[in-house]
Amino acid sequence: MFNSYVNLAIYLVFLQLLSGKSSILKKNDFHSIHSLLQQPQKILITTHTNPDGDAIGSSLALFGYLRKNGHSVTVMIPDPDPKFLQWMPFHENLLVYCLEKEICRAHIQEATLIFCVDFNSLSRLNQAEADCRCSTARKILIDHHTQPSNDFDFLISDTQTSSTSELVYDFIANSGDKEKIDTEMATCIYAGIITDTGSFSYSCNYEKTYLITADLYRRGIDGEHIHRLVYDTYSESRLRLLGYAISEKLVVLPEYHAAYIALTRQELDRFNHQIGDTEDIVNYALSIADINIAALFYEREDIVKVSLRSKGHFSVNDIARTYFEGGGHVNAAGANSKLSLKDTVDVFVKFLPTFQEQLNSVY
Ligand code: 5GP
Ligand code: MN
Repeated sequence: MFNSYVNLAIYLVFLQLLSGKSSILKKNDFHSIHSLLQQPQKILITTHTNPDGDAIGSSLALFGYLRKNGHSVTVMIPDPDPKFLQWMPFHENLLVYCLEKEICRAHIQEATLIFCVDFNSLSRLNQAEADCRCSTARKILIDHHTQPSNDFDFLISDTQTSSTSELVYDFIANSGDKEKIDTEMATCIYAGIITDTGSFSYSCNYEKTYLITADLYRRGIDGEHIHRLVYDTYSESRLRLLGYAISEKLVVLPEYHAAYIALTRQELDRFNHQIGDTEDIVNYALSIADINIAALFYEREDIVKVSLRSKGHFSVNDIARTYFEGGGHVNAAGANSKLSLKDTVDVFVKFLPTFQEQLNSVY
């Protein structure tokens, strides 16, 4: 018996050596990462497809910090970010993989370190995945989603936090460099925190989030101005799309405490849909009393985008993983469905009875 355990252990170590990666990564090993950063590095920072405020805020704050420390730094996003994020400090340094493929490829190949922020599996890089996978650069994850994949060499991973932007703040503070956080970096971090917490309404039951926020104000941010830049820049057609989605397309299933909205390509075109215009629509469905799970489905070029939200302990991360090959957080998750819009909605409606009891007793 003992012998077979020893053999198994030797076999596992052998497999690890073959894969060139230790499967038992030490989490939050700030010390090793800081050692790597003692030498000037060619750094690529990247984040997930359809980048949101936290993805852009954490990437750009990290950019500001690493550049200040004398590294050569590039930020690459797989596809364009919405207009309401494009005012952020350092934004002019962003490269968009699907628009500037060759330049991005060259940066990926040259990189000695790749920071992956606000996502936890290289598959979320979409078109840029293959190039990043081939890179020999060491990959450092900074992220707050559950269940990180083993694509990375170093993990800064914590789900008990408001946002990846907050983790970037921690990373800088842990390096003993808190005083290097200037107003511009603080502005990016603040934008990441407010967009990932719905302006401090979820994922923010942590004292630390508010202590960090207070420190960002000490560093000169103008919070009210940042709110206006993020939230008060709707186009007229975006607001009308929201109105249409709620008044014409909202389906409420009270017996399952569920609500959903499905939007076709034609409907989006009718409202001159731009990237980011559908963000937040799903939250209105969840805002109904006694609705504990909400979904938004909309047609993109070749997939159907799924956005899921929940209240309390009901995990849409589990739902996204089980039914749509997606992921995210307990109360906010997403996926790309390869089925038609109708079939994707059918998957949602059909699994609801399985969870009727849990959805009835959400805290
Ligand atoms: P949203 O619904 O706003 O697009 O995304 C909600 C959360 O789920 C975000 O944290 C986002 O990173 C994550 N998410 C969205 N789409 C996907 C996906 O296709 N796969 C995975 N693993 N996570 C996703
Ligand atoms: Mn995030």
